[in-house]
Amino acid sequence: MGQKFDAIIIGTGQAGPSLAERLSGAGMSVAIIERHKFGGTCVNTGCIPTKTLVASAYAAHIATRGADYGFSIDGEVRVDMKRVKARKDEISGRSNKSVESWLRGLKNCTVIQGHARFESARTIRVNDDVLEGDKIFINVGGRAAVPPIDGVNDVPFLTNSSMMDVDFIPKHLIIIGGSYVGLEFAQMYRRFGSQVTVVEMGPRLISREDEDVSDAVREILEAEGVTIRLNSKCISVSTRGESIAVGLDCQDGAKDVSGSHLLLAVGRVPNTADLGLDKAGITKDDRGYITVNDELQTNVAGIWALGDCNGRGAFTHTSYNDFEIVADNLLNGDHRRVSDRIQTYGLFIDPPLGRCGMTDADIRKSGRRALVAKYPMKRVSRAVEKGETQGFMKIAVDAETKQILGAAILGTAGDEVIHVLLDVMYAKAPYTVVQRAMHIHPTVAEFFPTVLSKLQPFNN
Ligand SMILES: Cc1cc2nc3c(=O)[nH]c(=O)nc-3n(C[C@H](O)[C@H](O)[C@H](O)COP(=O)(O)OP(=O)(O)OC[C@H]3O[C@@H](n4cnc5c(N)ncnc54)[C@H](O)[C@@H]3O)c2cc1C
Repeated sequence: MGQKFDAIIIGTGQAGPSLAERLSGAGMSVAIIERHKFGGTCVNTGCIPTKTLVASAYAAHIATRGADYGFSIDGEVRVDMKRVKARKDEISGRSNKSVESWLRGLKNCTVIQGHARFESARTIRVNDDVLEGDKIFINVGGRAAVPPIDGVNDVPFLTNSSMMDVDFIPKHLIIIGGSYVGLEFAQMYRRFGSQVTVVEMGPRLISREDEDVSDAVREILEAEGVTIRLNSKCISVSTRGESIAVGLDCQDGAKDVSGSHLLLAVGRVPNTADLGLDKAGITKDDRGYITVNDELQTNVAGIWALGDCNGRGAFTHTSYNDFEIVADNLLNGDHRRVSDRIQTYGLFIDPPLGRCGMTDADIRKSGRRALVAKYPMKRVSRAVEKGETQGFMKIAVDAETKQILGAAILGTAGDEVIHVLLDVMYAKAPYTVVQRAMHIHPTVAEFFPTVLSKLQPFNN
C-alpha cells in the first residue's frame, strides 16, 4: 500500500483548492491531484479567459461608437487578435500559476500531477502510486460535449477549449448552440470582426430563460449583425471546398449555411467516465453525473462529489458553494445543504443578464399567486447617460408573503445589481425593504423601488 492521507482531493477546479486549504489548515494530511491545468475550466478555458475576451470585444465595440459619444478615431478600428489573445493568456495564466503556487505552499498538503482513478472505495491510483485516503473528494469538472451530429467526425471543429488558441479573426464563425457559452462567443467574435451565425435547434435562444428575455437577447445580437437560425431541427456538418457547411433544416430561410470555422457549444459532459467509479461502488446518473445527497455525499460513506461533476450546478459559484457546504459540515459541525441556495447566474453578453430565483415557468409550475413588474432600461437614467439602454428589468414577488421570487436584469450592470435582490431573497425579507431603501443616484439599482411600485398580477 502507498502513502496514507486523511483526505484526497481529485481535481483543482473551483472547489478542490479551497477545500485543500481548509482541511490542511485544520491539521489533516491532504493530497490534491491534478491531471491537466491547475485551476480547471474557469481559470483556463472558461470564465476568466472568456470574460477577458469579452472585455476586449467591449472596448473594440465602444471604439466604433465614437460618433455616439462625441469622439472620432482616424481610420478603422482594427482588432489585433494576437494581442487580444496575449492579454487573455496573461490574465488566465497568472490565475493558473497562482492556484499552483498557492497549493504547493500549503502546509500538510501534497500536490500530485497525474490522472487519478479509483482502485477501491479508499484507494486511488495516480501514475505508479496508490494512495489511501480516509476521505475522498471528487472535483473533476466537465468538458465540452461533442454530440453525434451527422458528419461531425469528418470536419474540423472548435470547442471552448480550442477557442483559447485562436489568434486570428475567423472569416465566418458558425456556432452550433444558442445558449450561454455560444452567445458569449457569438457577440465577442462579431465585435472582433467575424461574420457570425448561431445555429440553434430550439424555437428560441437560451430556452431556460423567460421568453421575453430570449427575445430581447436575440434582438441585441441581431442588431450587431449576428445571424441567428432557430428551429434547426436536423443539424449536419460537412466540408464544402475550403468551407464548412452546416445543414439546418430550418422552418424558414436557406437550408444550410457555410462558414470558415465551426464552434460546438452544445453543453457539457462530466469527467466521470475514466475515474474508475465502479471500483469504488459510486453511482452516477444516466448522463454520467455522480449522484449526491443534499450535503454532497455520494452513496459511498467517506466520498463526496463537488462542482460540475455532481450535476447540482454548472457554475464557478455553485462549485465554490459546494466547497463551503462540505467544509462547514465537516469542520464546523454545520448542516448546510445544496437546496438552501438560490439559483443565480449571469450571461455575459453586453449588456449582461443577471438572473436569480424563479423564472416565469417556475412560477407557473408552482401555482403561486405572484405579482410581476417590468421596466425598460431606456427609462433608467444611468443607462441613458452611458448610452447603453438595451434590455429591461423584471422582478416577480409572491403576492402573499411579499418575498421576491425571482428577477431578470438584462441591461447595463445587470450582472452586479442583481445581487441587491438576491441578498434580500436570502434574508427572506419582503420586497418592501428594497422599495423603501434609499439608493445612490445615478445607478441602475436606484430604480428598483420604481420598478417595484409597478407590480401587477402575474398572468398564470
Ligand atoms: C466557455 C465557458 C465560460 C464559462 N463562464 C462562466 C462564468 O462566467 N461564470 C460561471 O460561474 N461559470 C462559468 N463557466 C462554468 C465554470 O467554468 C464551471 O462551472 C466551473 O469551472 C466548474 O468547476 P469545477 O470545480 O466543477 O471543475 P473544473 O473547473 O472543471 O475542474 C476540474 C479539474 O479536475 C481535473 N481532473 C478531471 N479528471 C481528473 C482525474 N481523473 N484526475 C485528476 N484530475 C482530474 C481537470 O483537469 C480540471 O482541472 C463557464 C464555462 C465555460 C466552458
